Amino acid sequence: MNPLRSLILAAAGNDTIRGAVATAPLSRDVVARFVAGESAADAVLTTRKLVADGLRVTLDHLGEDTTDTRAAEDTVRAYVTLLHALAIDGLTEHAEVSVKLSAVGQKLDERLALDNAARICAAAQAAGTTVTLDMEDHTTTDSTLDILTSLRRDHPQTGAVVQAYLRRTEADCRALAGAGSRVRLCKGAYAEPESVAYQDRAEVDRSYVRCANVLLAGAGYPMFATHDPRLIRIVDDRARWHDRKPGRYEYQMLYGVRPAEQRRLAGAGETVRVYVPYGVQWYGYLMRRLAERPANLAFFARALMGRK
Ligand SMILES: Cc1cc2nc3c(=O)[nH]c(=O)nc-3n(C[C@H](O)[C@H](O)[C@H](O)COP(=O)(O)OP(=O)(O)OC[C@H]3O[C@@H](n4cnc5c(N)ncnc54)[C@H](O)[C@@H]3O)c2cc1C
Repeated sequence: MNPLRSLILAAAGNDTIRGAVATAPLSRDVVARFVAGESAADAVLTTRKLVADGLRVTLDHLGEDTTDTRAAEDTVRAYVTLLHALAIDGLTEHAEVSVKLSAVGQKLDERLALDNAARICAAAQAAGTTVTLDMEDHTTTDSTLDILTSLRRDHPQTGAVVQAYLRRTEADCRALAGAGSRVRLCKGAYAEPESVAYQDRAEVDRSYVRCANVLLAGAGYPMFATHDPRLIRIVDDRARWHDRKPGRYEYQMLYGVRPAEQRRLAGAGETVRVYVPYGVQWYGYLMRRLAERPANLAFFARALMGRK
C-alpha cells in the first residue's frame, strides 16, 4: 500500500489526531465537501439539490463496526426516520439508502443484523425505494452475501456490492447477474491481503472490466461505482457492445468527488447516482477519502491553514 495512504489510515484510528481535526476551525468546510451534514434534515436538503440537478442519490448514515445492540438499534431508527423524511419530500423515486451490515450488528450476531436490515428494507419498501448493502472487508463477504440472499426473499430489489480487487468477485458476479438483481461494482476500499485480493492497480482494473462484462451480459441491473475516467470510458463502450441503453445500468460516484463529471454524464443522458454520507461519525469516512487521493489531502491542508 502507498505509504501516505497507510499514514492517513493510521491517523484515522488515532484519537489525538481525531480530536485536533474535529475541532480545527475550518474542518467543517472540508467535511462539508464530502459529507452532507450531521442530521437527516441535512441529508434531505442535499438530496433535494442533487435531484434538482438531474442526479440520483444513495444515502449512507455514517457509522460502522457497531459493538452494542443499542447502537445498532439507533442506526435502524436513523434509517427509518430518514426514509420517512425522503418520502414526505417526494424524493424516494430518485433516492435510496446504502447500509453497512456492521452498523446494524453483523459483528455481534448475524441474525440480529439480518433482522435489523430487514426492518430497513421494509421501511424503504413502504417509502417506495430500495436498500443497497455496502460491502466491507473480505472477512464479511460470505456473511453479507448470505444476508443479502435472505433479504431478497421479501425484498428482491435489495442491491449487492462486489469489489473488483477480490479474486473471488468475477465468480460472485456470475452468481449475482440474474434478472432484476441490482449489483454495484466498485474497486474496493479496504487493505486486503494478497491471498484474497489483487494488489496491483492494473490487475484490479482488469478484474473490474471482466466483472463489468459479466454484469452487462447478464439480466440484472449493474451499477458502476468508480471515478476512474478510463473505466468509465470502457464501461460506456461495453454497455453499447451488450446493447444496454442508458437507464439499463447506472454510474455511481461519491458526494464531492468529480462533481462536474457527475453532471456531465447525467447531461449526456446517463443515470448517475451520488453516494451521500451524513451523520455525526464523519471522521473515519473523511480520512478514507483523504487517503485515496493526495489532491484531497492538499485541499484539506489548505483549508486547515485558512487558504482554501
Ligand atoms: C458510489 C460508491 C460506492 C462505494 N461503495 C463501496 C463499498 O460498498 N465497499 C467498498 O469497499 N468500496 C466502496 N466504494 C469505494 C471504492 O471501492 C473505491 O475505493 C473508490 O471508489 C476509489 O476507486 P475509483 O474506482 O474511484 O478509482 P481510483 O483508483 O481511486 O482512482 C482512479 C482515477 O479516478 C480519478 N479520480 C479518483 N478520485 C478522484 C478525485 N477525487 N478527483 C478527480 N479524479 C479522481 C483519477 O483519474 C484517478 O486516477 C464505493 C465507491 C463509490 C463511488
